[in-house]
Amino acid sequence: MEIALNKEKHGVVIPEENYFEKAFEGCPFCGSSSIKYIGNIHSSPDINIYTDFLTIIGTTHSDRPLPDIKIYTCNNCFIGFFNPQPTEKSLKEFYANDDKGENTRKKIDPRRFANHILKYLGNLSPRETFRILDFGGGDGAVSQCLGQSLLSSGIAMKIDISVVDYNTVPDRNENSISQCSYKTLDQIPLSDEFDIVIASAILEHLKNPRQTISLLLQKMKKQGIFYARTPYSFPFYKGFKRLGKTFGMPYPAHLFDMGSYFWSDLLKTMNLTADYRMKECHTSLVHAEFRERPLLNILSHFVKLPSYLVGKYYPFSGGWEVVIEQI
Ligand SMILES: [Zn+2]
Repeated sequence: MEIALNKEKHGVVIPEENYFEKAFEGCPFCGSSSIKYIGNIHSSPDINIYTDFLTIIGTTHSDRPLPDIKIYTCNNCFIGFFNPQPTEKSLKEFYANDDKGENTRKKIDPRRFANHILKYLGNLSPRETFRILDFGGGDGAVSQCLGQSLLSSGIAMKIDISVVDYNTVPDRNENSISQCSYKTLDQIPLSDEFDIVIASAILEHLKNPRQTISLLLQKMKKQGIFYARTPYSFPFYKGFKRLGKTFGMPYPAHLFDMGSYFWSDLLKTMNLTADYRMKECHTSLVHAEFRERPLLNILSHFVKLPSYLVGKYYPFSGGWEVVIEQI
């Protein structure tokens, strides 16, 4: 397939040798050498976002041979990953110049999503201040909605929100809710601890999800809650491949696939079973809202239905969510 390119348009300065990392020889999450190859991304519609990436980094097929992007799963920790992965620098270039990567972030109505997370908080005891860390939280809309619910139910007198997102928004302080934005996690004061940490549809975009999960878990207060939601799409890729069809893979916006087996074993994989407990681990909420897209909503529920019955053993759930509690 020929790719139309325009280096000048994007004014790219990245040296060619820095486009991609050296390919992983083992699992980038747990280090196991037992990894399973399941296919390549190479054809339409897989190539769509990858094409944008190639355009932005300013390369062509004729410049130099481009690596085949292979798809693997780990037999030890069950993470799915693309290999090789872009360098941090070329990935930043991709996000700075292209909105398709950002558009692959699943956006759910913030009020609906906040109510969904609220269910997992259990019976909270009233407290003066409730602190929320919203990692990859954009403008903080979900945390704002969550905060409003906690205030109106009398659980908290004050809400303190820290949003970490590459695109920061101005800090705000109104109606007992204060919100600060940070570009990176390490900018948050070390002593800050949170009642709830949210990482929704963000971990799959990061080059170092293990380190990030570890840092996020450390940010929780005792009995604090960590909520994460990730895509679980590699089983669809495998299923489509068996049928001789292609399934679009949003590389390099997604670098990892984190599904039921990965999350079920996460605390064991990271040696965290003494300090944390997996409170919820199941298929993620249906993305499409019934009132806006009723057919898609019904279809999504239908496809996910077996997952509600057999849990992690059903591979076609599309997304997974977990709630982890610090003990
Ligand atoms: Zn692994």
